[in-house]
Amino acid sequence: MSRTERETFPPFPEPLPVPVVDNHCHLNITRDGSPPVDVQDAIDAAAFVGVDRMVQIGCDRESAQWTVDTVIEHEELLGGVALHPNEVPIHAEMDELDEVLEEIENLSRHDRIRVIGETGLDYFRTGPEGIAIQQEAFRWHIELAKRTDKALQIHDRDAHADVLRILAEEGAPEKTVLHCFSGDVEMARECVERGYYLSFSGTVSFKNAQPLRGAMAVVPPHQLLVETDAPYLTPHPHRGAPNAPYLVPLTVRAMASSLDMDVVDLCKAICDNSTRVYGQW
Ligand SMILES: [Zn+2]
Repeated sequence: MSRTERETFPPFPEPLPVPVVDNHCHLNITRDGSPPVDVQDAIDAAAFVGVDRMVQIGCDRESAQWTVDTVIEHEELLGGVALHPNEVPIHAEMDELDEVLEEIENLSRHDRIRVIGETGLDYFRTGPEGIAIQQEAFRWHIELAKRTDKALQIHDRDAHADVLRILAEEGAPEKTVLHCFSGDVEMARECVERGYYLSFSGTVSFKNAQPLRGAMAVVPPHQLLVETDAPYLTPHPHRGAPNAPYLVPLTVRAMASSLDMDVVDLCKAICDNSTRVYGQW
């Protein structure tokens, strides 16, 4: 890391005893105009604390192409591509949605792209006028994941009921992951029953996240995943600072303590689940 990055990024956490996977990050995104992170530096920093593999997600036109180029170059990375639900209405408005989705589909064919995602619904950022087209694009992504036999990673913001309904209507892919799970206990139970994976981000470590930890408590270890969603959602006690894959140990330890689980057992479960969902790196 460069000097300026070290000044803004939190210090290294205690390394994990068993390596895990950051199952959702955006290494190409920076916040507040800060300079792009060096990908190799981010990988090295993560490996240093026991996060030896990552899933890089590119969910707009440029990021999807960047993701394919970058996962080819770095063996620690696998990739996911999609058109994010908040991007969908923008391209629809410009009358180029089909063209962009075709680009995404072409990029998804690469062997190191193992995820269609993040796709889903976002009723927080997109107003009611964008809902119909978001739902249509979500269905398209579900179908693509099934046709290509890749995992599906779902973005669900304030749209829990519709996400569950559309997955049921379309038939969810065999490997379906709720990225940055934000539902309640009822929703967690429903997802568990349907065989989905629930991925928890730094939000589960926040002081006021007791309801989210309650939802996590009903998820059996073989359906748990962990992620940063870097550069967003930095875990406690660095909430607000920029996030990066090397901070995953803070979230894993928060999860283990909340679940009253041994850190080693949780790491092993996360590692096994990640390989089951995404395949060998
Ligand atoms: Zn994300």
